[in-house]
Amino acid sequence: MPLLDLRTATMAYDRSSGTRIAFEHIRSVLRHMTPKRALNLIKSERERILGRPVLSSMPFFLKVESTGLCNLDCRWCTGSLRKRLEGQRTIGSMTPEQFRSILDQAGEYLFRINLYGFGEPLLFPETLEMIRDAADRNIGVTVSSNMNTTNATLASDILDSGLELLILSCHGTARETVQRFMGEAADIRLALENVERLVRLRDGRGSRYPRIQWQFCMTGFNEHQMIEAETTARRIGMDSIRFIRPLFPTEAGDEWYSSLFPRRSVERSDFRDRSCSWPYRGAYINWDGGLLPCCKGELDPENDYGNVFSEGLSAIWNGLRYRESRKLIKSPDTFIPSCRTLCSACPVLGLAPHDLRTV
Ligand code: SF4
Ligand code: SF4
Repeated sequence: MPLLDLRTATMAYDRSSGTRIAFEHIRSVLRHMTPKRALNLIKSERERILGRPVLSSMPFFLKVESTGLCNLDCRWCTGSLRKRLEGQRTIGSMTPEQFRSILDQAGEYLFRINLYGFGEPLLFPETLEMIRDAADRNIGVTVSSNMNTTNATLASDILDSGLELLILSCHGTARETVQRFMGEAADIRLALENVERLVRLRDGRGSRYPRIQWQFCMTGFNEHQMIEAETTARRIGMDSIRFIRPLFPTEAGDEWYSSLFPRRSVERSDFRDRSCSWPYRGAYINWDGGLLPCCKGELDPENDYGNVFSEGLSAIWNGLRYRESRKLIKSPDTFIPSCRTLCSACPVLGLAPHDLRTV
């Protein structure tokens, strides 16, 4: 295992975007440090480096899907308006009480919660209540939003919630480009107006939070708008912009691949050291409580390592699937898991053809 592993799940286009992503993680750790969290972090990193299958530490970040509902229809997103097939996870929302039960189980160890999955969190008013609950426990919350809402109180609601980082998810600077990626209902003018209103209100209150970062997923048909996006982000007063190398399924046409990293290099790169820190540091929790070691394979509930609402996070964290996954990460060439694990078919470990949306 690498001694220092600062890779994030999001694949940045360049070093500067990668630094901005890592910097926000580090900021959350420093801002929300407590003695208990510090001790857990040290134990966790030690156990990761040693490749222990059973952990005495708990996850120190979580990704939690408050809702799987979305008002847009991004071409390759499983959380869009498209129908689910039989047997796939249904679309729904978590209740604030259920979210609170996650905080009760792990809050004292958590530096950060990314409160979004494959849905639009700000469509769902309870998300703001969840942010407040987590912020009250000194946990940094990040939300990624398309900001396509006509809610007139959105800016003040966000500010009052205590949100730490807002990621604007918008993949272009022109209406046609954005709609090609995010569906016909996508309205970039509305999204930017909402962000600008939030910036003005935040600055007017003299607050530094939420920090606002534009996430721009690069493709062959929007890469020419990168410079304009940077200029727009600066003009509006966003804190930063990050350009991302999205992972599309194999059936995506060539136009979805930026000329700066064509399909072939996306398939081969970034997984050279064949290791993964997710099963030591964090987890992904679907709206229904189904827990996965990361945000892959979420459509199939059979991939879940357990349910945090019925089984509890601690029991799942050292359950059979996690133990087998950690052994596999330590020895991807030789270890054969005794049960189904999401990691068994993961290209990050060099174990399967590249299609991160399936197992
Ligand atoms: S806005 Fe986000 S959740 Fe909605 S369809 Fe697009 S990627 Fe999926
Ligand atoms: S499937 Fe397992 S090995 Fe692959 S990224 Fe997720 S947690 Fe890591």
